[in-house]
Amino acid sequence: MTSLEDIQVTVLKGVGDALAGRLARLGIHTLQDLLFHLPYRYEDRTRLTPIGSLHVGDVAVVEGEVVSADMVMGRRRSLQVTVRDNSGFLALRFFYFSAAQKKQLSEGTRVRCFGEVRPGRAGMEFYHPEYQVNPPPMPSPDQATLTPIYPLTEGIQQPRLRSLCQQAQRYLSRYPVREWLPDGVLEEYQFPTITDALSMVHAPPAGAPVRALMEGQHPAQQRLVMEELMAHQLSMLKVRAQIQSRQSLALLPQGDLADRFLDQLPFALTGAQNRVVDDIRQDLSQPLPMLRLVQGDVGSGKTVVAALAALQAIAAGAQVALMAPTEILAEQHYVNFRDWLAPLGLTPAWLSGKTKGRARDAVLSAMASGDARLVIGTHALFQDDVAFERLGLVIVDEQHRFGVHQRLALRDKGAAGDYAPHQLIMTATPIPRTLAMSAYADLDTSLIDELPPGRQPIETIAIPDSRREEVVERVRGACQSGRQAYWVCTLIEESEALQCQAAEATADELRERLPELSIGLVHGRLKASEKADLMHRFQAGELDLLVATTVIEVGVDVPNASLIIIENPERLGLAQLHQLRGRVGRGHDASYCVLMYHPPLSQNGKARLQVLRDSQDGFVIAEKDLEIRGPGEVLGTRQTGLMQFRIADFERDRGWIEAVRKKAPALMDDDRRVNALIQRWLGERIRYGDV
Ligand code: ADP
Ligand code: MG
Repeated sequence: MTSLEDIQVTVLKGVGDALAGRLARLGIHTLQDLLFHLPYRYEDRTRLTPIGSLHVGDVAVVEGEVVSADMVMGRRRSLQVTVRDNSGFLALRFFYFSAAQKKQLSEGTRVRCFGEVRPGRAGMEFYHPEYQVNPPPMPSPDQATLTPIYPLTEGIQQPRLRSLCQQAQRYLSRYPVREWLPDGVLEEYQFPTITDALSMVHAPPAGAPVRALMEGQHPAQQRLVMEELMAHQLSMLKVRAQIQSRQSLALLPQGDLADRFLDQLPFALTGAQNRVVDDIRQDLSQPLPMLRLVQGDVGSGKTVVAALAALQAIAAGAQVALMAPTEILAEQHYVNFRDWLAPLGLTPAWLSGKTKGRARDAVLSAMASGDARLVIGTHALFQDDVAFERLGLVIVDEQHRFGVHQRLALRDKGAAGDYAPHQLIMTATPIPRTLAMSAYADLDTSLIDELPPGRQPIETIAIPDSRREEVVERVRGACQSGRQAYWVCTLIEESEALQCQAAEATADELRERLPELSIGLVHGRLKASEKADLMHRFQAGELDLLVATTVIEVGVDVPNASLIIIENPERLGLAQLHQLRGRVGRGHDASYCVLMYHPPLSQNGKARLQVLRDSQDGFVIAEKDLEIRGPGEVLGTRQTGLMQFRIADFERDRGWIEAVRKKAPALMDDDRRVNALIQRWLGERIRYGDV
């Protein structure tokens, strides 16, 4: 029997090739896709507001008569339509409009429109409001329904999408949408059927509980939420199953490389490090691909753990790739490993996006021949033309800086036929448990929950930037007593150019004020070799103060640095601040973090800085961050790939996570169900077959 997943959107009235193409950009091809394009909120448009009582910023429905419609020339040509009711005048302004629209909005026409009030040339204005000419009477209050608001794409307006969804719903009564949740689940939670749930969310009928719908708590919504979370969970489990259906090299511990490495370390591993090393040793010894996430707060010592994993693989005759998210961090690992491995007679190879020409050819051929046992670099390691002879282990550091999809894509590398390398993924961003269960359902987790001994707590203070002088003096003092400091410039703009400019200006200013100090400046626009050179000089103590953009956020390890100034901390997320702060407190000296904010701080801003002052526990901070900002942000914007839900809201719906996780394995038994649910909810957003 035909079902909605077999019917193309082109059956709908008004959907030609052009519109179908735009819908395709939203991943909408079939009527089922359209019905699973869910409203992300509702508006109550059942009350008219008199024009005379509007204020700037109000979102309102008004109704009146068109008194004039004129083309206005200005910086941009626009159509200005003035509407009057018996309380006042309002202008509608359209920058894009058709001749038909202009004609339709002629003098004397009754129009009802919905929009946000803005100050404009003609007083209060609606820009591009949704409108209806000669509208039907307003529904009586008990007949009122909510208006669904859909996520949009370029070239499709809200009313159009709404009308398409309405049309699609008429098919819903004739063609079924398959029910994929097991009966047991439907009964247990008293969920409505999928068909009823879809009808409810697209067109809440008169009398439906407005408040529950607005808050996403209606059983119809919660049913869809649960199904969506389930689909995501299944997709992760499927990735995992696919990988684990492959073989890996069983990299048995052998030789004395690891012992020799440990002997030359100036410290002993912590209990937590030892435990995690054991987990990894076990995994690597199996002929099944390891999929392990190591979580450890900043400074917990993940790098040596990675080194031990690498040595086990190398000793067993396999190649190892270690990837870091930034050039600076990759370079630092390279230098560390080079120094650590030299006494063992091993030399790591280096490959970044900036490795060019003959150097690049040489590395590539050493990788391909297997001569390069350990290659360290950025994501350049996983470009298409890179090949390994016998890649046994992939290590990804600071994974949170890479997207989930990127992480999945990495698995292609070195995988061939039914072979896949082991994977070790390290992250310092402590991921709240509920979030981790979802975003990392495909990974086993080990935790380094102990810092190396002797670490001093970092004292964190918040100071308004009006006291900049004092802060500068503090830097002078710290550096004169032989310590080193970071000065981090932040900017809200994504533009790297602007960030660099700001950092340059700050460096100039500080050089002028602190002529006795030697000051370096590092930012994203420097050449890799320049960055590396600066970092070496800072590491070697030749520079007292390093002015930097957030490029130093992750990984950088200079134990003698004991003071970090962070400008405009209110612009950064808590997790990021925690990471930055983690650049100090790595040695035996007492360390300080100065958060130099720009007043006035919002309530929220104050609360956030307070969290940082109160806690140095990344997990506590991450939980707070999740509360304050939501999961997309906590995982980092680049990480949102898998966390972009259609209807689920991580914070609101986190109560479901545990149930979903428990029930998912049972649902894995039915391939058709798994595939259908993934297709329905994730559609094209994820690639599988070739993982
Ligand atoms: P992260 O987990 O943030 O990557 P690193 O691996 O950079 O931490 O380690 C932070 C610092 O702690 C480094 O200087 C490292 O040499 C040192 N370190 C790691 N393990 C120990 C240990 N067991 N005892 C003392 N210092 C350690
Ligand atoms: Mg690290």
